[in-house]
Amino acid sequence: DSYVTAAAGAAASTHVLIFPFPAQGHLNCMLQLAELLAAADIHVTFLNTEYNHRRLLRSSSGNSLPGRGPGPKVQFRAIADGLPDDRARSAARLLELDASLRARSSQAYRDLLVDLREGSGGRAPRVTCVIADGIMPFAIDIAEELGIPAMAFRTPSASSVWAYYCIPKLLQSGELPIPEGADLDEPIRGLPSFCREARSSDDPMLRFVAEVTAHSARARAFILNTCEHLEPSALSSIRARMPVTYAVGPLHALRSGSESAPARASLWREDRTCVAWLDGQPERSVVYVSFGSFAVMSRKQFLEFWRGLVGSGRRFLWVVRPDLIEEGGWTDEMESMIEGARDRDRARVVGWAPQREVLGHRAVGCFMTHSGWNSTLESMVEGVPMICWPFFADQQINSRFVSEVWRIGLDMKDTCERSTVERMVREAMEGDAADELRRSAKATAEAVRKSVEEGGSSFAAFQRLVQHIKSLAR
Ligand code: UDP
Repeated sequence: DSYVTAAAGAAASTHVLIFPFPAQGHLNCMLQLAELLAAADIHVTFLNTEYNHRRLLRSSSGNSLPGRGPGPKVQFRAIADGLPDDRARSAARLLELDASLRARSSQAYRDLLVDLREGSGGRAPRVTCVIADGIMPFAIDIAEELGIPAMAFRTPSASSVWAYYCIPKLLQSGELPIPEGADLDEPIRGLPSFCREARSSDDPMLRFVAEVTAHSARARAFILNTCEHLEPSALSSIRARMPVTYAVGPLHALRSGSESAPARASLWREDRTCVAWLDGQPERSVVYVSFGSFAVMSRKQFLEFWRGLVGSGRRFLWVVRPDLIEEGGWTDEMESMIEGARDRDRARVVGWAPQREVLGHRAVGCFMTHSGWNSTLESMVEGVPMICWPFFADQQINSRFVSEVWRIGLDMKDTCERSTVERMVREAMEGDAADELRRSAKATAEAVRKSVEEGGSSFAAFQRLVQHIKSLAR
């Protein structure tokens, strides 16, 4: 309530800087937050890396960035990420990108904040709050050092954030790293990939996620892209450590006060021809296949998926990013398989799809996914059952929840043999088990949509967040 009082009249002078980690899944949801805050009469600056900002402007979704259309305005700024332009910013180089941001971008970030703190020559009110990606604790520390209150936005599910919190304790008790040859079915099989793959307690990735999670709790508040209905117990565990935690998700479905379609920030050019193809397909007949922006597979895995999908007899739409297959893995044989299937109208392959639109299309019957959290939420909101092939990071946790807790999909875990792919597609698309999955996917969609409507928990949490942010503008 004190937020509400302090907020009165502060709207016009409230200015938030939002700083996402420069990766696709982080950009999308933090841009949606930016747009929602702008619609709530808050001045918003969105900080990209120069590399990503150029890509965003080149991709067709550049036209749907807030400020270009009729929706609320967000101001963009960009700083260098410190890596050479020709270096891939792939999953394998995540730690390199992180190190470069800390070492080489933090000074530019500090300078920008100093400038914005002074009101940037009167073009905008002085910056009054920073919302930084929780995996960049330096962004939170620098803001606070400059006297600007900072909040941490975490992009994974609450359950994953909670799992990261538990890593130091698991290291201490000797449960991590998992001993060589241990049965991974005991006691849990939903551990993040970092935990499963770590060979020593000094494993850099394990250290990274544990440290950033512990460190980001120094922020004034946590903002999570989830809702109370989905993850009540993880949220209450997190709140024991971080009492001010706002669960405002799924952000792409939260349309508080804004009528326009939610912002899209695709780093790849969207191929919209697949929507026209879907228009010509019967209801719920197509398997949509996409493994997000980071996952990489071998030629062998690709062929297993392909043969399994073809063997299932279902039509499918597959997003094959230019860098989906391991370097040197692409062959002419794969090219002609794709063309053959296209000629027979059995399949479409695109480099990047307008995913939310595809998932909302009546022709899509299920989603074969890598279980990235954004993809999971997008599928959930549309009530589309999932077949999960988790790749890394939090994805093993998400796939576990999809299959065992919410029961809205099937978990392939680590295997992708053609027989498994074929069986899973059949199970998700036809017969009693498929009907059951669809029913629970529909029920989950309804509950999640309720959360983001007026009177729902995420809607209310977002209002409280806005009041909190406005109260900081004194
Ligand atoms: N996405 C998209 N088109 C595609 C594939 C993915 O627009 O062809 C979007 C998808 O809607 C989601 C994001 O890219 O918002 C991927 O984020 P996610 O957390 O699912 O996975 P990540 O890429 O971080 O592994």
